[in-house]
Amino acid sequence: MSQYESSQIRNLAFVGHGDAGKTSVVSAILYSAGETKRLLSVDEGNTITDFDEDEIKRKISISTGICNAVWSKTKLNLLDTPGYSDFICDAFPALRSADVAVFVVNGGSGIECNLERLWESEDALPDSRVFLINKLDRENTSFDKTLDIMRNELSQKVTPVALPLGKEAGFEGIIDLINQKALKFDPSGNGKYSEMDIPAEYADQVEEARVKLIEGVAEADDELLEKYLEGQDISSGEILKALKAGINSGDVYPAIPVSAAKNIGISYFLNFTVDYLPSPAEKSPIEIGDHSIEVDPSQPLVAQVFKTIIDPYAGKVSVFRIYSGKLATDSTVKNSSRNENEKVAGMFFLQGKSQNNVTEVNAGDIAAIAKLKVTKTGDTLTASDGSIVLPQINYPDPLFSYSFTPITKNDEEKISSSLTRIAEEDPTLVYERNAETNELIVSGMGQLHLEVTQDRLKRKYGVSASVKKPKIPYRETVKGTGDVRYRHKKQTGGAGQFGEVAIELKPLPRGEGFEFVNAIVGGVIPAQFIPSVEKGVRNIMDQGIIAGFKVVDIQVRLYDGKTHPVDSKDIAFQIAGAQAVRQAFDKAKAILLEPIMKIHVKVPESNMGDVIGDLNSKRGKVVGMEASGKKQIIHAEVPMAEIQMYEPEIRSMTGGRGSFTMEFDHYEELPSQLMQEVVAEIKKDSE
Ligand code: GDP
Repeated sequence: MSQYESSQIRNLAFVGHGDAGKTSVVSAILYSAGETKRLLSVDEGNTITDFDEDEIKRKISISTGICNAVWSKTKLNLLDTPGYSDFICDAFPALRSADVAVFVVNGGSGIECNLERLWESEDALPDSRVFLINKLDRENTSFDKTLDIMRNELSQKVTPVALPLGKEAGFEGIIDLINQKALKFDPSGNGKYSEMDIPAEYADQVEEARVKLIEGVAEADDELLEKYLEGQDISSGEILKALKAGINSGDVYPAIPVSAAKNIGISYFLNFTVDYLPSPAEKSPIEIGDHSIEVDPSQPLVAQVFKTIIDPYAGKVSVFRIYSGKLATDSTVKNSSRNENEKVAGMFFLQGKSQNNVTEVNAGDIAAIAKLKVTKTGDTLTASDGSIVLPQINYPDPLFSYSFTPITKNDEEKISSSLTRIAEEDPTLVYERNAETNELIVSGMGQLHLEVTQDRLKRKYGVSASVKKPKIPYRETVKGTGDVRYRHKKQTGGAGQFGEVAIELKPLPRGEGFEFVNAIVGGVIPAQFIPSVEKGVRNIMDQGIIAGFKVVDIQVRLYDGKTHPVDSKDIAFQIAGAQAVRQAFDKAKAILLEPIMKIHVKVPESNMGDVIGDLNSKRGKVVGMEASGKKQIIHAEVPMAEIQMYEPEIRSMTGGRGSFTMEFDHYEELPSQLMQEVVAEIKKDSE
């Protein structure tokens, strides 16, 4: 494997809704470029980029597949990102590392929700974007209609650079609007084509599309626009130059008709990529956060790891993009994010799961390093005296949680370390032990995400775990007051125990926690036993009194008691304190508090009524609304217990177009009817 100059590289992230054909497009590219001997297919489960067992089983991309192809002496780094909701966030690091986002669109289904979601993640997208309108060999597909939808719903900058030749089953090639030629593709699917004159019946259509192209390009170039408006002739050379500049600056988003399954249009796209899409050198300087980085191999190294792959046997593989400088094997680099040095032993270009060794990698390229010690996804690698730390890649907060229960003792011992390794590959997965409910809570982007995690634990690490809805961390408190005198006395055999306390229990305002007031006068309880009483109270508050939940927001005032010269001791006063609070709780009208989440739901206008109705039925309170682009954001407060399954629910309510974020807000009294149900449920479980 040789090294490539920055101008000989193109970094492309293929993004879009699940099933639009991203993996198939990448597969057709690999075949056309001679990287595979035949056209590999998702349906046969043998593609280069979807090689993981979970991906083959479900026929979807779960994490970004990385491969490359060489076309016209240019190395194309191809990042095949997932399009399914639960995994779409894995597109963000790929988009950070790519210079061009290639949107693959199903030519029969218009805008689908995850394409829309990506489009709305404006900050994550590179300026340069291309549209491949795919599946045009299928019935009920239309390049023109899809193009109109993209232009109207996403951006008027979407501009055709080619038109389809034939349609549906008769789709056999494309009309190149730039060179004014028809390209008829070999029906064998080998990606080769013959050039011919544009058939006469396309004349009007081609003329109309060419005007759109010239207008689109001129729109991005003031001088050209002036010439165009004045009706002057514009040469092909001028169009080409302006098109290239417009794509680079993000003023023109070219659209190309293709069929990945029949390998039509793909090799045209490859020519187009080499001729018109920006290389890393043309993107220089690259702006990331506050940094402006020259893409120059002679400058000091700046690279960022954007993906980590953990193989349980072979170890860790860190995939990185070099922004500046170059990297050679057997060198030492600094991980500037962690301020530690790392040894670069082996480097390679990834071809799906295969690795092709390489000894030096240039600015602009994407490659991988094996067995780095401390480096994690998002970290920056620099020359030994480098100080640049590139900003981390942002991910949305988790939306869905399950409590994972290991099945056997062995599973229990291995589950944490295995989850750590899974989370290292998958930054959207987080887990923690909830101190209140003592459950292992694993959170991610959706139900399927956690089911895949459960499968991975089993398959890759041999750890079995059952999953269920997490317990709600209710809390206990009182609404009234309780006054209790309690004597603990034990005199059977040996040394006796004696402690007597009188306490008053009363509620504190929400969030105040606990207050212990020592109002003992005249030493009726000796000073050394006062902390014993408090300890007993705190212990029982941690254990819970009515249903095993933590007790909060109470004041306990110790105002009287009795002592015994021999039998009074620490343990006796701890027990007396605890039992006194237990009895006072009965008198003071105990209640449960439930966690209330603040939720922000973004939905299309047409779903507003349904979504608000549903929030109301979940005991939610809508507290505000605001417009965000073409959508509305509803702000509401909803009990955690009602919103645990919201991710699949909102998805089905809005056809995937709704999204939400939520965070814990405060605790509120649980209505008494529901409190009885919760207490009864807990009693049943403990029987
Ligand atoms: P991804 O989820 O976007 O990566 O989509 P895939 O590449 O996995 O393709 C989804 C399905 O669409 C698979 O069954 C493919 O065989 C099929 N498919 C992809 N591209 C085409 C195409 O151009 N024509 C037809 N007829 N089917 C296609």
